[in-house]
Amino acid sequence: MMKVPFLSFDATNEIIREEIFETFEKFYDSKYYVLGPNTTTFEEQFANYCGTKHCRGISNGLDALHLSLKALNIGKGDEVIVPSNTYIASVLAVSMIHATPVLVEPDINTFNIDKNLIEAAITEKTKAILPVHLYGQPCEMDVIMDLADRYDLKVIEDNAQSQGATFKGQKTGSIGHINATSFYPTKNLGALGEAGAITTNDPILDEMVRSLRNYGSEKRYHNEYQGYNNRIDELQAGILSVKLKYLDLWTTERQALAANYDRELANVRGLQLPFIAEGATHVYHLYVIRTSQRDALAAYLKENNIDTIIHYPIPPHLQKAYKDMGSKKGAYPIAEQLSQEVLSIPLFIGMTEEQQKYICDKIRQFYK
Ligand SMILES: *Cc1c(COP(=O)(O)O)cnc(C)c1O
Repeated sequence: MMKVPFLSFDATNEIIREEIFETFEKFYDSKYYVLGPNTTTFEEQFANYCGTKHCRGISNGLDALHLSLKALNIGKGDEVIVPSNTYIASVLAVSMIHATPVLVEPDINTFNIDKNLIEAAITEKTKAILPVHLYGQPCEMDVIMDLADRYDLKVIEDNAQSQGATFKGQKTGSIGHINATSFYPTKNLGALGEAGAITTNDPILDEMVRSLRNYGSEKRYHNEYQGYNNRIDELQAGILSVKLKYLDLWTTERQALAANYDRELANVRGLQLPFIAEGATHVYHLYVIRTSQRDALAAYLKENNIDTIIHYPIPPHLQKAYKDMGSKKGAYPIAEQLSQEVLSIPLFIGMTEEQQKYICDKIRQFYK
């Protein structure tokens, strides 16, 4: 029987093998191990890629979100609007600065924050909106930026899952006031360890981030702020420069794989395929389908040696960690419904036609 993993690094690792080993050798011999030339180079390249003036390499995605909020001087007593169905890190970042996450339900079709529900969640305490481009699809950023303008709010994009995606021609990570991304190994642009970045067009926010990630110090042993050690790892920065060259090619491959699923599964009754909002391009960090028979489908695929994952089985407000929020079951029905109905099926670079055909055959069989 064929076996399909959820994800494999085999193909990408093979493509970059020689370049990565050269990068390591150069790094090793340079003896420049923290905030060295790899970091500076990657920051320029990633800023250029996103179309922003500035980029700072950060230790990971959660720290990048945290420092972005910190740079905006948001804290205790302030509210930040976050989608109710996101990866927990987006909400954790708000808790880390002791602000209050205000959850807004997603659109049931795009899975992204519902642009029509944001305004009603704005109060006098609201300082920022933190849209998450979930699964690789940008949020409807024109409406979000308009609202931010009208209510004098800041926007922090969580760009961890959508590097390279665009909304109305503009790259994600370049639209909000300050934007965070993650290079966790499984992301579309993944390091071989922990890494993240902050992108912005605002030179003041950029300077703030540069200082905050390095103990709040511009000049050695002179501390202007109570900062952190959130520097990107110098070796990971070098590795990311190698992988960034392939990102567009790999995005095209992801989109082609997604198009195969779209075509092969289009007529399966009871299955909802990814829906793309007008103006958005999807980079398919994940290919997420929705079905009321989710658990049975996942079990059937497992029996047939196909791995799937649920992103995410428990929405943030129902996590034990957030029991103090006081939200009961039923408080965010759309997020809860999605947590019961979504299923991510395999999509990775190097996936074969046979593997994809096998998955589609099994899904069709399940619904027969
Ligand atoms: C991965 C991810 C993060 C956190 O990134 P780390 O590098 O793992 O800290 C934040 N937000 C979203 C949406 C993510 O997918």
